[in-house]
Amino acid sequence: MNDIGVDNKLLKVGIYLRLSNEDKDKQNKDDDSESIKNQRNMLIDYIEKHEEFVLFDEYCDKDLSGAGTYRPEFERLITDCENKKIDVVLCKSQSRFSRDMEIIEKYINNKFKEWNIRFIGLSDNADTDNIGNKKSRQINGLVNEWYLEDVSNNIRSAFLSKMKQGEFISPFAVFGYKISEENNNKLVVDNVAAEIVKSIYNLYLTGLGFTAIAKYLNSRNIPSPSFYKYQNGIKLNINSNRPREEIKWTTNAIKTILTNEIYLGHLIQGKRTTVSYKNHKIKKKDEKEWVKVKNTHEAIIDEETFNKVQKVMKERTKPIKITGLVHIFSGKVFCLECGHYMRKKNSNKYEYLVCSENRDGYDECVNKTSIRYDVLENIILEVINNKIQKFQDIKELENLYLKSKKYSFSNQIISLKLQKNNIEKQISSTKNYLKNVYEDKVNGIITLKQFKDLMEEYNKNEDSYNEQIRLINRKITHLKTNNESFKNVHKIFSKYQKFDKLNKIIIDEFIDKIYVGKINKKRNSRDIQIKWNFK
Ligand SMILES: [Zn+2]
Repeated sequence: MNDIGVDNKLLKVGIYLRLSNEDKDKQNKDDDSESIKNQRNMLIDYIEKHEEFVLFDEYCDKDLSGAGTYRPEFERLITDCENKKIDVVLCKSQSRFSRDMEIIEKYINNKFKEWNIRFIGLSDNADTDNIGNKKSRQINGLVNEWYLEDVSNNIRSAFLSKMKQGEFISPFAVFGYKISEENNNKLVVDNVAAEIVKSIYNLYLTGLGFTAIAKYLNSRNIPSPSFYKYQNGIKLNINSNRPREEIKWTTNAIKTILTNEIYLGHLIQGKRTTVSYKNHKIKKKDEKEWVKVKNTHEAIIDEETFNKVQKVMKERTKPIKITGLVHIFSGKVFCLECGHYMRKKNSNKYEYLVCSENRDGYDECVNKTSIRYDVLENIILEVINNKIQKFQDIKELENLYLKSKKYSFSNQIISLKLQKNNIEKQISSTKNYLKNVYEDKVNGIITLKQFKDLMEEYNKNEDSYNEQIRLINRKITHLKTNNESFKNVHKIFSKYQKFDKLNKIIIDEFIDKIYVGKINKKRNSRDIQIKWNFK
């Protein structure tokens, strides 16, 4: 008979190898292959000692965790089992197969039985052919699962304490920063990317929306964060097969940058977590649980700019009015004649503003004619642009002026402080003198009358000294405020170029109030006055 009887059938063995954390600890840390080699030798040796076994294939994962992470070779092993290509699964131990009790139950205790596959774990004597073995295998499985849970919890609490100390724990830096070469838990400014971040904040404040900013940056070939990081060899946290240069700025990327407090120098971590050590699905944590530590690294955006952007964002996302446009002059336009606000009214074609004291049924104000909204808009736009234009023209001059003013400003302060010092010195030397005189009086060298006269003179002097000091202090404060307000105006203007269109942000920044007067019939004109936010 040529047939090989069932009893003599050779059993095809699949060996499963997995790298594990314990191996890392014990052995040469850089050489993963050592542990795999040892496992392989041990298993092949076993097969050779058992003549009913023959090696079918080797399945080898370099996964360290043993939990539900991606294990492609494990998947291949299971598929081959299901397709009945193998008869025996051989491992160093049950824990190499999996540390997850659910997986052990599912495969070793159920599916394998169904598929008629024998499982052998050498070091823990697990063998599904040995019926009395099941309990000890289950106990082993439980112990392994507890071990995994402990490791996972330890890692979590180690991360949490790092986060609480303001250490940056992600391997991926946020755009605008890079991970410090000296300390990989610290962020340092990436100067080039930081400039892009700053310009995004500025663009938003000039009135562009998220999408418009993304388009603007793309049109100028400003690299998106992914592409920038790729260009500069910085670690990326995306898995995409798309060519990096095709990854462009998106609305979402802009929004993320405009809302991230990391640019203020604060770290907010632990926003997300995995469901459990078995389930690596990401879930969002409650805001109360986020770990926020202030001033952990250098800021890119100052607090004033950041807060302004958040405020504007809130306003822009308010429900839009029926006209579909946010009323850009809302709260700003008043009647020059009576001081009441100008209300908006619509015709089929245009929008108008009219003194609120004139409405159906009664008209209290002499300012009866409405002004077309778009007309007022054009006027204001022109006035603002003129102001900016003027400023640009004289910018150089102004800079020089600022410098000279700064110079004289500090000189003036210094000389005032010197004066103050001198006076204070005089006061203290007079005090000393007075002390001596008092001793002379006590010793009978001068008379009481003489002492009283000197005392009176001293008091007079002290009053005048104090008055002088008060004056000097007032001068210093005055100089300082002047200098500040000049710097503020400078700041507002230097931010902007000419505008093509007005928006609420520009209006709010430049203008406090607009007053619209009545029509002068003789000259066919009306007075419009603007109260600026600066002098
Ligand atoms: Zn009025």
